[in-house]
Amino acid sequence: MKSADTRPILLVALGGNALIRRGETGTVEEQRANLRVPIRQIARLSRDYRILITHGNGPQVGNLLLQQEACTAVPKLPLEVLVAATQGELGYMIGSSLDGELAALGVHPVPMVVSLVTTVVVDGEDPAFAAPEKPVGPLYSAEEAASLPYPLAEVPGGRRRVVASPRPLTIVEKRQIRTLIDLGFIVICCGGGGIPVIRNGRGTRGVEAVIDKDLASACLAEEVGADILLIATDVPGAALDYGTEQELFLGTVTVKEARDALAQGHFPPGSMGPKVEAALLFLASGGKRALITAVDEIEMGLAGTAGTEISGG
Ligand code: ADP
Ligand code: MG
Repeated sequence: MKSADTRPILLVALGGNALIRRGETGTVEEQRANLRVPIRQIARLSRDYRILITHGNGPQVGNLLLQQEACTAVPKLPLEVLVAATQGELGYMIGSSLDGELAALGVHPVPMVVSLVTTVVVDGEDPAFAAPEKPVGPLYSAEEAASLPYPLAEVPGGRRRVVASPRPLTIVEKRQIRTLIDLGFIVICCGGGGIPVIRNGRGTRGVEAVIDKDLASACLAEEVGADILLIATDVPGAALDYGTEQELFLGTVTVKEARDALAQGHFPPGSMGPKVEAALLFLASGGKRALITAVDEIEMGLAGTAGTEISGG
């Protein structure tokens, strides 16, 4: 089905910190209050754009891992099932929050938000499986860590479990997502980077890994034909010399300038690196605009008055 709707498709990727800010315990009340900031803007933007929302899940999946360790009365769940659980949890919270804002604005007379459990194919031979390095879950002391069955890495303040973070290859539900957009729905999907699966005959099988949500968002944006990729996080954009006296937040930069700064190490792996990489991948695949903004400056970013825009032109 071809849609008559010609409004640009905007993919907003919300950082995990859009819900739980550093230093908060992450109560549902805190998460709802934090969510209101980006969701109000997204509700207003839904007048002019067809909207797709993806989200991180670091703090939420970390809390589920802690619960699992605290409770021995029920069987433990594998990581991929915990990612699925956070898609439900956050899909519900983001969806209900957005629906409330849409109703308050009078934008949509009936609920138009769909949250989709999303699986993402990775390569079983991805080198990340041989060298897991993405920290997940709580901090452990050396003593606690000694009895744990999984690989751990030393991080500031202790040790954390590390898991593989393979590259996303394709979004399994891309056709369903595109169809939902064409039907006029706002779709929440690819939560936590998606549930990682490998191909298994015609079907797929879940694997113990996590996928970076920014790279998964770039893959999704390409596969459903999004026009704009906007990555919303807890800093105003991408900076050169971040955290130093020379720190310089970037406004509009060219693809070459962004690529050079990435190669020079200005954007570290696991935080700003994948955002810039996702923006570059999206533009290389034909995307029109790629932006990195603070969660409270999404509309300003789109208007060109805040954030970092990597210019494809
Ligand atoms: P999210 O949950 O939104 O994905 P991340 O923690 O993964 O957030 O990435 C955002 C963080 O990246 C910022 O809080 C900031 O501390 C860090 N960061 C590292 N390098 C840079 C940089 N060059 N410019 C801006 N932020 C950076
Ligand atoms: Mg991140």
